[in-house]
Amino acid sequence: MPLCTSLTLYLLSLVFLGETRGDSGFAPLDGAPPSKIAVVGAGIGGTATAHFLRQHFGPEVRIDVFERKAVGGRLATVTVNQQDYESGGSIIHSLNLHMQDFVKQLGLKYRKSVAGKTAVFNGKEFILEETDWYLLDLFRLWWRYGISFIRLQMWVEEIMEKFMRIYKYQAHGYAFSSVEELLHSLGGTGFLNMTHRSLSESLLELGVSQRFIDEVIAPIMRVNYGQNISIPAFVGAVSLAGAQANLWAVEGGNKLVCSGLLKLAKANFIQAQVTTISLHLKGESHQYELSYTTQTDKVSDFYDIVVIATPLQQNVNSGISFQGFEPQLPDIAGFYHQTVASIVHGYMNCSYFGFPDPKLFPFASVLTTDTPGLFFNSAASACPVNITAGFRRKQPQEAGVYKVFSPKPLEKNELKTLFKSYYSVQVTDWQAYPHYGSTQELPPVTLHDSLYYLNGIEWAGSAMEMSSVAAKNIALLAYHRWNRQLEMIDQKDLMHKIKTEL
Ligand SMILES: Cc1cc2nc3c(=O)[nH]c(=O)nc-3n(C[C@H](O)[C@H](O)[C@H](O)COP(=O)(O)OP(=O)(O)OC[C@H]3O[C@@H](n4cnc5c(N)ncnc54)[C@H](O)[C@@H]3O)c2cc1C
Repeated sequence: MPLCTSLTLYLLSLVFLGETRGDSGFAPLDGAPPSKIAVVGAGIGGTATAHFLRQHFGPEVRIDVFERKAVGGRLATVTVNQQDYESGGSIIHSLNLHMQDFVKQLGLKYRKSVAGKTAVFNGKEFILEETDWYLLDLFRLWWRYGISFIRLQMWVEEIMEKFMRIYKYQAHGYAFSSVEELLHSLGGTGFLNMTHRSLSESLLELGVSQRFIDEVIAPIMRVNYGQNISIPAFVGAVSLAGAQANLWAVEGGNKLVCSGLLKLAKANFIQAQVTTISLHLKGESHQYELSYTTQTDKVSDFYDIVVIATPLQQNVNSGISFQGFEPQLPDIAGFYHQTVASIVHGYMNCSYFGFPDPKLFPFASVLTTDTPGLFFNSAASACPVNITAGFRRKQPQEAGVYKVFSPKPLEKNELKTLFKSYYSVQVTDWQAYPHYGSTQELPPVTLHDSLYYLNGIEWAGSAMEMSSVAAKNIALLAYHRWNRQLEMIDQKDLMHKIKTEL
């Protein structure tokens, strides 16, 4: 064979090998399944990943799930008077189909919702108050803001309708190699642009009035994401969907979904802090060595596939370092936003809100406008995670349990402003969700051939369902790459494809 031809063949084979190894996630050429998979983090993202990995890779593969603190992560409860209250992620939309499906498969129950009125406070007075009469509320909205609320409703519904396509794509087994590809498949460049453009800009363009944005939208962004109306339009829409009426939660606490999924996945749970992930060459392929610290030991083990299901931004401090990767793994930019949840057992100071007689204070939730110096984002009467048949909200003249969200831990004088007196305060200081605007980039899904990162999706929108969607996507992506089914990844025009597949 002439030298140039053999050289060409050799180069071609390198290109070919490089492509199949690189793009397939390093499946061995004999088609053997992976023997061990690691998932770092047992929040809803990590536990849902374990569940979906089990569905796709089957019963033989060992799935180890590492957790350094408590199963549930940002789904957590605190106890007051022998009752538990959600201190992290609490509400779920009725169209969040993965969460619904988990609850069904696990035999969990929906928690009853307890009616309660909402008002918006600007630091001096209530500027918007919900009444007992729906038609009166609608009339007041129209009087104050024109048809802004109808425009907004239509906008959110259109986005949700497009977002729902993900369930069809995932049911048909399609996966995406990046958050950008996923969003593009759902809503084209429109969705991608919404991750960069501010919510206020998008809404103004839609014809929503500035007054409506300041008095209604801003308070919703403050309670859901602790941030203002400059957050990107896509996460803004996620937040607005979370302000609709058809919401639910899990009876007994949302974190039950995480412990349930671990069991359903028959995952091997390891209570440990993962400290290092190193790349090791193993003949033609390679493996990842995870070093981790348990309460008593320092241990390490090798894995074919690793999924990181915890934020890697510096201020979240996952404590994971990466070794042996050449070139080095990309830095994950941005930082997480601090939101403090204070669960207070006491008597609300209704005088502060202009109601000297607490018996006349009619609101269960107080949202706030973006007023300089206002020290809290929201304050609401909290319902326990178990609601018995005779349950009723405490009246403001009675001692009740309240959840206050604030950007910093509440000072004593701030607590005294909101509460006449209190028995207990339990503080959870969260690095809660991305600080939107701290980076323009959507983090990668694939950090290295078979090393995946789940939490990049939070930069499009942070919610239990978003982590669940990312979990299903990573399980599918890892499976298809391992089995070289590249035609199932990043396919264009999926709506059309799926229709013709039926
Ligand atoms: C106050 C608050 C209110 C919210 N409200 C809502 C809401 O109403 N509805 C909604 O849908 N969403 C809400 N969210 C967002 C939602 O809770 C999150 O998007 C979701 O829970 C994220 O889940 P996750 O599994 O991706 O991450 P996490 O829950 O953060 O899980 C990551 C896990 O990894 C563990 N970990 C980290 N590093 C390591 C390591 N090195 N080794 C081992 N383990 C490690 C952590 O301890 C943690 O348990 C809220 C969040 C907060 C904080």
